[in-house]
Amino acid sequence: MLNLWRKIRRTGRVAEPAPPRSDEPALAAELGGSVQIRHVDAGSCNGCEVEIGSAFGPVHDAERYGARLVASPRHADALLVTGPVTRNMAEPLRRTYEALPEPKFVVAVGDCARNCGVFAEAYGVAGAVRDVVPVDVEIAGCPPRPEEIVDGLRKLTGR
Ligand code: SF4
Repeated sequence: MLNLWRKIRRTGRVAEPAPPRSDEPALAAELGGSVQIRHVDAGSCNGCEVEIGSAFGPVHDAERYGARLVASPRHADALLVTGPVTRNMAEPLRRTYEALPEPKFVVAVGDCARNCGVFAEAYGVAGAVRDVVPVDVEIAGCPPRPEEIVDGLRKLTGR
C-alpha cells in the first residue's frame, strides 16, 4: 500500500495541459458547466469508442471540463452517438433520445455519425444521426482524435 502511495506521489498528474477555453458561449449554458452524457453506439465499427475511451481516460481527462459519462439516458443531459444509424438501431436511438429530460443535446462523433462515412448507402444503414434525432455538435474524423472529442464536449460545457 505504501509502495503504491509512493508511486502515485512520484508520478504526479499525467493529464495533458488544458488548452485555453473558447470565447464562444456554452451550447448547454443552462446546465451550468456540468453535462451528464449517455453514449449510444448506433452501428459503429468501435474505432470511435476507442477514442472516446481515451478522451475520458487519465491523459485527456474530459471530466475536468464538466463532461461525465452516465449509465442511463434518464440521468443524462446529452447523447454521444457514434456510427451510422443502422436500421436496427434507429428506433432504440429515437427512444433513448425521448428518455432524456429537457433540455437535451446530441453530439454526433465521427464521420459515420455525421454522414454515414464509409458505410454510406450500405443496405443495413438507415442514415446519419441527424436523420433520426436533432444534432447540436458534430465531431469530424474517422475516428476523431481524443483532443477533438474533448473539444466538442467543451462546446457543450463551456469549460
Ligand atoms: S467514423 Fe471511422 S472509426 Fe468511427 S465508426 Fe465510422 S468507420 Fe469506425
